[in-house]
Amino acid sequence: MSMGTEVDDYARYRGKCKEMSEALVAADSTLILVRGHYECPFWGEQPHWWTKKADGTIVDPTKKQFPSKGLGLYVEFDGTVECSNCGKAMAEDEATYESNYCFCSYECHGQFVGVF
Ligand SMILES: [Zn+2]
Repeated sequence: MSMGTEVDDYARYRGKCKEMSEALVAADSTLILVRGHYECPFWGEQPHWWTKKADGTIVDPTKKQFPSKGLGLYVEFDGTVECSNCGKAMAEDEATYESNYCFCSYECHGQFVGVF
């Protein structure tokens, strides 16, 4: 496989996981839309969308965006997030967000960004 193919796959699929997974589910009603993380052995934890069959088989239309091509671990989102400062688990809608981070409280947010 050439470098050219890698770059093309990245450009074609990167950031399209939600859009392409939704399109797949719309075209095949036996598939279930899944949101969560993909643990890539090369890039680490990546926010990701994919689909699965009723038997749990993963069907990921954008797996080629990752250097590991879907061989990493798929972790479904369970509705909770962890505070980026103290690690406390909370429901997604209880957290406050800033870029890729989330916080359980004003204090944690402040500590994390170094205000206090
Ligand atoms: Zn916290």
